[in-house]
Amino acid sequence: PHRTNQSTVTMATEEAWTQLSGHAGNFQSGSRPGRVMKRLCQAEADCLQALASDPRLRDFAPAFYGIRRSPSDDSDSGVGAEFVEMQDLLAEFQAPVSLMDCKIGCRTYLEDELAMARRDAKPRPDMYRRIVETDPDATTPEQRAAGAVTKLDYMLWRERLSSTSSLAFRIDGLKRGDPDGSVAPPPFDDFKRLRRREDILAMLAYFVDGVQAGGVARAYLERLRRLREALTQSEFFPKHELIGSSLLFVHDRAGRASVWMIDFGKTRPSPSRLSHTAEWSEGNHEDGYLTGLDNIIHLFQQLVNA
Ligand code: ATP
Ligand code: MG
Ligand code: MG
Repeated sequence: PHRTNQSTVTMATEEAWTQLSGHAGNFQSGSRPGRVMKRLCQAEADCLQALASDPRLRDFAPAFYGIRRSPSDDSDSGVGAEFVEMQDLLAEFQAPVSLMDCKIGCRTYLEDELAMARRDAKPRPDMYRRIVETDPDATTPEQRAAGAVTKLDYMLWRERLSSTSSLAFRIDGLKRGDPDGSVAPPPFDDFKRLRRREDILAMLAYFVDGVQAGGVARAYLERLRRLREALTQSEFFPKHELIGSSLLFVHDRAGRASVWMIDFGKTRPSPSRLSHTAEWSEGNHEDGYLTGLDNIIHLFQQLVNA
């Protein structure tokens, strides 16, 4: 696979590798086919390793192949940057693949990040402007008078803009590979602003649309249900807070479809056991992961029944 990013992506050839979100520079080809390397975050490597030895969840996360120093040196220190090597989840599919990244959970920041933002009382006119440009009614009279918000205000606003707050997941990226080998531009690509249930359902219908639509939706639904079952039986799951983690949906036109858990840079051992369904209040570390998964399952259920 070669590196690419969302704006330069081509999926017309078998070798093309598609990255839906995040910085393109964070990913490199693996040391052999079927593998990919992501810039090392120790918490993520620890998590991939733990998932690989969890008998319930190992098939729902990329296989872990260890930590490697990149041969291509792009750091200032003179030694290659470190990467975690993992399974390339696209390897088994026939191009052009269709991909969707759903960020799961009722918040996308850690409690530490929230506490840090709260200590930062600096007025931010730049963030105020961004809010007003997108959502003129979202500011309070006090904020309007000041012409500024705090970083905390901005973070909380961002979560309410998408379905993260309401449905405990949001669509973070989506590409549909079409039968002629092209990649269809989505009808609406500001996914982070999709908030209403019916808008998300329409986007999911668009995503699975094609010759095998019914089969693809059913395959996703079954896999999601197996994932839910596996999570509830896993040792790892109740002991970890999963923030900013995604489900990666992949299908091809042969009708092959699957879903995996990815992106564990903000996954942390939790001081207390988590239900992943309880309401979050600061200090309880609940992330809403199962609530989000249940909402996705219901939406796919609706697609299958349609
Ligand atoms: P962010 O935190 O901004 O979401 P990130 O740098 O942590 O980004 P990821 O979210 O882990 O990166 O991955 C970005 C994208 O790369 C995913 O949406 C997916 O398209 C692709 N990707 C990540 N891991 C894999 C994998 N193991 N196999 C195939 N594709 C992957
Ligand atoms: Mg991500
Ligand atoms: Mg990440």
